[in-house]
Parts: sequence; structure tokens; C-alpha cells
Amino acid sequence: MDHDDIIQRFLFRDFNVRGEIVRLGPAYREVLTQRDYPAGVRALIGELMAATALLSATLKFRGGLTLQVNTDGPLRLLMAECRNQSDLRAIARFDADAGAPWLGKGKLVITIEPAQGERYQGIVSLDHENLARAIETYFQRSEQLDTRLWLSADDDHAAGMMVQRLPGPVDRPGLPDDDENFTRVSLLADTVTGAELTSLQPRDMLTRLFHEEHVRLYDPRSLRFHCGCSRERSANAIKFLGYDEAMELVAENGEVEIDCQFCRARYRFGGDEVRGVFDEEAPPQGTTLH
Ligand SMILES: [Zn+2]
Repeated sequence: MDHDDIIQRFLFRDFNVRGEIVRLGPAYREVLTQRDYPAGVRALIGELMAATALLSATLKFRGGLTLQVNTDGPLRLLMAECRNQSDLRAIARFDADAGAPWLGKGKLVITIEPAQGERYQGIVSLDHENLARAIETYFQRSEQLDTRLWLSADDDHAAGMMVQRLPGPVDRPGLPDDDENFTRVSLLADTVTGAELTSLQPRDMLTRLFHEEHVRLYDPRSLRFHCGCSRERSANAIKFLGYDEAMELVAENGEVEIDCQFCRARYRFGGDEVRGVFDEEAPPQGTTLH
């Protein structure tokens, strides 16, 4: 049976290298229904969603992980988020009159927000459409972990695979932790094609790539499209506007409407509700109340 919207960990039994394979179907297609994205942009959204799920799987705590791409290319913003290692959402903003190559030179920003604790942000430079290389650089620089990544997306599926060296002696004492093993499995994994990534189930892909290695495949974990937007969060957005500007919108339109960019949910706040948002707390200093 085929499984979509899953992520599956695997471990090489004989040395300190592990991996993850992610395969997205409905969760990816749901993001594509939100806007009319050109084909090249759709593929980049899928690749970034797959990458976000892979990175999220390396977190040891609950929270959110966001990948955001900004370059000087026609794709002005590309962003994907994974919360609690299961809830995915993504968005892209682009110049519709332009075309490929969509990404120019710019940066990839990795933001990790633990449910408890401090937010962490890492930034790596991005050279055109190579998301995987930028993420490998991030791991190398921020965590000193040798990591390789492969990403691919077509109209129906987005998929990715990650192979990473474990900080050996800590997790699995007694096993060799040499460069040779990591290099060999990286070279084997490098033979994967984009079409194989999007079409093969994780088990079949591991057999195809590593049939001579002893690989342990863990149970798959489910992923889904889920936007964490809410009326409360939208109320915060109104707070951010400030009282004067919010009341100006009420005067113009009779309400303030906050549209979620990720799922197109609409939150409407009438005049009394907008005032209520600001009544809950003392107005910030410097704000003039009329
Ligand atoms: Zn939403």
C-alpha cells in the first residue's frame, strides 16, 4: 500500500549514520490549491516543505521550525513551517511577470522556536536554486554534523532524503565513526533521481540505494497540512497595527478583516471587537486615544 504524508527515520546498523525520508502528497497539494503558482514555484514550495519536515525531525523538543528564503530573483519570498514535527504549511510570493530562474542570490533563514525556551535563528547564503546545498552548509556550520540532502517535487508529490552522521560516541558507543562509511552511503544516495524520490516508497528507495548495507527502518510518522492560525492570533495582528490605524480601518470599512496568507481563512472584527482587543491591556505609551 502506498503511504503519503509520512516521514521515516532509518539507521545504518554498522556505523554512526542515520537518515530520514519524507514523502508528501495531500499536505503538499493542499498548499498548491491556495494560490495559482507557476510550475517552477510549485516545485520549490514542495522542496522547501520536504526540507522543513526533514530538519524538524532532527529536533529533540516540541516547537516550530521555519525555513524562509529571500533572494534577488523573481520569487520574492518562499517560506515553509513545520510545527510539532507534524503540522506543515507553506507560502510563496513571486513576480508573476517574470519566470525561471526563480531564485537568485540571497539567503536561507532557519528559525527554531521551541515550545519552551529561546528562539534560535541561523542564516546561510543561497546561490540560486540549490536549497539542499544551503541546508547542508547550515548543519555543517551550526551543528558540525556532516549532512547530505536530496529534494524533489513534481505536481503530485514532494519528497526528500537526508543522511547525517551521528555524534557517534554519545549515542552509539563501540561503532566506528569514520569518514569512509559516510562518504560511501552519500555516494550511493547521490545516485537517486528526482523521479525516484517522488515516486518510490521509503522502503523501496532504501532497497534501491543501500541493498548491501544493513539498514533499520523505523515506523513512519504522519505529517499533515495544518495552519495554526486562529482568531486570537489575528487579534494580535490588529494589536500590532496599533489603535489609531485599526480604528481608521473600522471607520473606512466598518470592520477589520485579517486574511490568513497560508490557508485563506478570514477573521472579521467589528468596531466593538477591535476596541475590545485594545481594552484588554493598557494602551502602549505614546499612543493617543481619541
Ligand atoms: Zn491559516
